[in-house]
Amino acid sequence: MAVKKLVEIGLSQQFLNSVGGLCATELVKICEKKSRPLTDEEIEKHLKIKLTEIRTILNRLHYRGIAMYHKKRNNKTGWYSYTWSINIKRIAELILEQQMEAMAKLEKKAEFESTYSFFMCKKKCSNFPFELAAEYNFNCPECGNTLETIDNKKRLKTIKKEKEELSKEIEELKKFLV
Ligand SMILES: [Zn+2]
Repeated sequence: MAVKKLVEIGLSQQFLNSVGGLCATELVKICEKKSRPLTDEEIEKHLKIKLTEIRTILNRLHYRGIAMYHKKRNNKTGWYSYTWSINIKRIAELILEQQMEAMAKLEKKAEFESTYSFFMCKKKCSNFPFELAAEYNFNCPECGNTLETIDNKKRLKTIKKEKEELSKEIEELKKFLV
């Protein structure tokens, strides 16, 4: 089975473009294809955008620890040249962090949903936790209609599905960290 590259996964493309800008995925792909670090001019040959834009993307990725630069002095001219390489593992790490946070949020949400019951007005003015609904004698304080219990099974099911999706993604990402 062919192993999918990290940059081919939709999730990492979204991530790269959100932290680096629209062409960040393309830039990472170009750098990854070459087995040596590239100068920004070399990247420009493959990525048809302005050099200043390439530098902006590189700087943004560098800020996150995704792009690394190597400084080299030309002995004849005394000028420095910079070449860039990409730390693929770091991309996986950052997305993993993001996904773990999302997972923790979902777990809290699921716990909340299964612990508390909510009541909703027939006319959907508002919903209330049990204690508050009881205080209003299960009548809507806004329109006077009866407050009815909300079935949270559907919402719990949705959360469960989201959690399953997320765990799959997390497992996939972990493979890039070994
Ligand atoms: Zn109401």
